[in-house]
Amino acid sequence: MLSRSSWLPDLVYTGGRFQSDRALVCDGGKIVEIVEAAQAPDAIRLKRRALLPGMVNAHSHAFQRIIRGRTEHRSQHTTDSFWTWREQMYAAANRLGPEEIYAASHLAFLEMALTGITAVGEFHYIHHATDGSTYDDPNLLAREVIRAARDVGIRIALLRVAYARAGFETEPNPQQIRFIEASPDTYLKHLEQLLAAPELKDGMAWAGVAPHSVRAVPLDYLKTIIAFAKDHDLPTHMHVAEQPAEVSACIKEYGRSPVALLDTEGLLSKRFTAVHAIHVTPKAINAMAQAGAIVCACPTTERNLGDGVVPVDSYFDAGVRVSLGSDSQIQIDLLEDARELEYHLRLQKTARNVLAPDDDASSSALARRLFDCATVNGAESIGFNGGKLEAGLPADFFTVDLDDLSIAGCATEDLLANIVFSLSRTAVKDVVVGGKQIISHGLHG
Ligand SMILES: [Zn+2]
Repeated sequence: MLSRSSWLPDLVYTGGRFQSDRALVCDGGKIVEIVEAAQAPDAIRLKRRALLPGMVNAHSHAFQRIIRGRTEHRSQHTTDSFWTWREQMYAAANRLGPEEIYAASHLAFLEMALTGITAVGEFHYIHHATDGSTYDDPNLLAREVIRAARDVGIRIALLRVAYARAGFETEPNPQQIRFIEASPDTYLKHLEQLLAAPELKDGMAWAGVAPHSVRAVPLDYLKTIIAFAKDHDLPTHMHVAEQPAEVSACIKEYGRSPVALLDTEGLLSKRFTAVHAIHVTPKAINAMAQAGAIVCACPTTERNLGDGVVPVDSYFDAGVRVSLGSDSQIQIDLLEDARELEYHLRLQKTARNVLAPDDDASSSALARRLFDCATVNGAESIGFNGGKLEAGLPADFFTVDLDDLSIAGCATEDLLANIVFSLSRTAVKDVVVGGKQIISHGLHG
């Protein structure tokens, strides 16, 4: 158990604003209280630093970090798309053994930690050996990914992916043999083994259920594993409506769009996160709102893959929570994702401050809303009680250098907007997870 420690930066972001003269008192990995500086004389002084809650990356495929910059050229196809990118990504995925999965994941998680991310939802779908056979431990690769996160020091929700088929009326794709667990019984047996693993017992790692998509998991299978998630109160994540072709295939198979299918089958819930959820109707947005489901937008990846723009304005109007993910790792910078939520809509609507809330005229209202996507909403999405700095919650936080060129000179009341819209990620200087400092002065170790 970690001993008591206190931290005294220039400013602390708590209760939706920056406050000065505040020290964070931590014990046993949690925040005990936030007090006036004078009440914490032994506090570790963090000079010229603002301290914020650690960010939560709700959707990651860590291994994809290794193809960064390697798909930015025209392939043999006349028009490149998400689908041609996917074949290139599969080719890389299929070369990785356990050691490489660990190394690639470690690299991705280290980059996340250095940018202020303290917890990740890892949507993990490579299960088998390169020839498609099951390892002696069917969770070998999932556990390598968990080990990488633990070695870096960030929390991980291992969202174990179910993948049954290439798609409706689609020939099997030999590049998918490492993902497939054809029956829900096999999937659930392996998931239960993972849930019993010793490294999932201390709050640094836990598991969730992740049917890959309506394309890859047929309805009966989907119902079985979502019922399991409900019984065990596990976070449930699924790619939903990322591409128009996925929506039309779903309509062809079921006569309903992906969200309509999930809704009418009673599969949406507060535990459910729809990743992307781009190509949706107003009716689908209302269904998500009614069920209390969460959306995970991944705007840097979505713009890189040509997926489209998440209609976050409509989701917010309906009361749907939106979280953020670095997804393909083309960039790892959750604040960039936060600002892109807004920027994509500005370009689309030729308007500004599209996502600013109607009921809050304060100058930081929009920034606060976007920062919540990177923190509180992400935590809720991956089943983690955190994302803010309050007594009783985990001591997960990061600091930024107030003298960094990207934000220098700003007034305290504009600081959050400066951070959300302008911060360079190298301005992140200290990162603490569960009271343990994993990044100091911008360095890990
Ligand atoms: Zn994804």
